[in-house]
Amino acid sequence: MKNSTTAESRAGTGGERAGQDLLHCDVLVIGGGPAGSTAAAVLAEKGWRVVLIEKDRHPRFHIGESLLPMNLPLFDSLGVRGEIESIAMMKYGAELCSPHHSWKQTFLFSDALDKSWPHAYQVPRAAFDHILLRNCARKGATVIEECRVTNVEFPGTGGCVVATDGKEHGNQVWEARYLVDASGRDTLLATKLGIKRRNARHSSAALYGHFKGVERLPGRDEGNISIFWFEHGWFWQIPLQQGITSVGAVCSPRYLKSRKVSPEDFLWETIALCPQLKSRMRDARLASPVTATGNYSYQAERMSGDSYVMVGDAYAFIDPVFSSGVFFAMNSALLGAETVDGTLRDPARRKALEGKFDRTVRRGLSSFSWFIYRMTSPAIRELLMSPRNIFRVQEALLSLLAGDVFRSRAVHARLLFFKAVYYAKGAFSLRSSLSAWRNRRKAAREAYQEPAAG
Ligand SMILES: Cc1cc2nc3c(=O)[nH]c(=O)nc-3n(C[C@H](O)[C@H](O)[C@H](O)COP(=O)(O)OP(=O)(O)OC[C@H]3O[C@@H](n4cnc5c(N)ncnc54)[C@H](O)[C@@H]3O)c2cc1C
Repeated sequence: MKNSTTAESRAGTGGERAGQDLLHCDVLVIGGGPAGSTAAAVLAEKGWRVVLIEKDRHPRFHIGESLLPMNLPLFDSLGVRGEIESIAMMKYGAELCSPHHSWKQTFLFSDALDKSWPHAYQVPRAAFDHILLRNCARKGATVIEECRVTNVEFPGTGGCVVATDGKEHGNQVWEARYLVDASGRDTLLATKLGIKRRNARHSSAALYGHFKGVERLPGRDEGNISIFWFEHGWFWQIPLQQGITSVGAVCSPRYLKSRKVSPEDFLWETIALCPQLKSRMRDARLASPVTATGNYSYQAERMSGDSYVMVGDAYAFIDPVFSSGVFFAMNSALLGAETVDGTLRDPARRKALEGKFDRTVRRGLSSFSWFIYRMTSPAIRELLMSPRNIFRVQEALLSLLAGDVFRSRAVHARLLFFKAVYYAKGAFSLRSSLSAWRNRRKAAREAYQEPAAG
């Protein structure tokens, strides 16, 4: 990976600020996760001098291992599909397991409205993020790892001034024409601007680890994700290469807060509450530390402004249930990079480009959020466990699960019909629907502090 000496020669030095040399680039990207690496690759390819600052050194662990079919066109456009496939399990669909049903329901991406993307990947994020980071460096971005952005200022004359503290070069100050904040759940810019808002409609927390010896589905289904509902939320089982399986519980913050034992023991205790998963894990043993993550459902008030865009989790994150985080992060990074490129070329187009960026990102998020907010309600569980393809609604649902929410009106029209059926079903079982709705609202109101990683 390039270091900051390379950065200075490519991005240029010059000027002084408070007695410190200023380093220059066109675009400074904060964070080397999927969003930051995608934005940096796209902008470097368009010829801009891009510097990406990452506080860690890759490869490093990150949660978020299950991808969507619509990630694949993004990998193609970045030229990394082959590299990613070499570290991945093939994911053809999702298996749903409910404690209230004697059968399991499998959804296959090949049944979506558009059948051209029949699979996705399950990836270890350490290797996946490293591939994307190396790719943006190959495309000409200067990548500086083990370096933290400590402050950002917008002098008011356009552009930004960014302070960094790095292992190799200590404190440095960069002047850039544009800032891409891809700092993930650190939400550096939204926090600094005071525009980060907790999601008032949803809250959940998670506890997860990597295991060996977990029973897998047979044959072609081996790489599918399994989702298990249980009384406090739901579990994921994500098969990875080399016999590793990622298992995590997504539950109410209140449940996670009730922990009296170590995170490891608490995860095993929680698994014991879900007999279907417990049975698959009868010979399993932990292969990593267990991590607890507090309420992560938030959104910033805006995603762009004079000389900046926020992409990926730096702007918003709702919930991992549909494995949409990495896809949204990379897609919003692509859209954000187009906004930056267009504005740098023709500043008069800034408002129009920002408007398009904003509308597209929000539309994608809202397509998923309606389902996310209701995922633990009895009516949704019933509809998902006994799906029917009237008006090709099941195919549209599969398109949503594949991430195909930006292209086709046919998907949205059919999802509207699904929502109507949901409300009708809810009206028939009013008491349980109201109780589920009250529980969701109560959980969303609870303030929750992030616990220390186990
Ligand atoms: C419990 C859980 C399970 C999930 N499961 C899935 C899943 O199965 N599938 C899926 O698609 N998504 C999943 N997600 C979501 C997914 O993890 C994120 O949406 C995705 O990683 C977002 O990518 P990003 O690039 O925006 O942020 P990140 O991947 O978090 O990258 C941000 C980067 O910025 C760096 N950074 C932060 N602050 C600074 C700073 N000041 N200076 C320099 N660098 C900085 C960080 O080190 C990091 O490398 C899950 C999330 C959670 C919480």
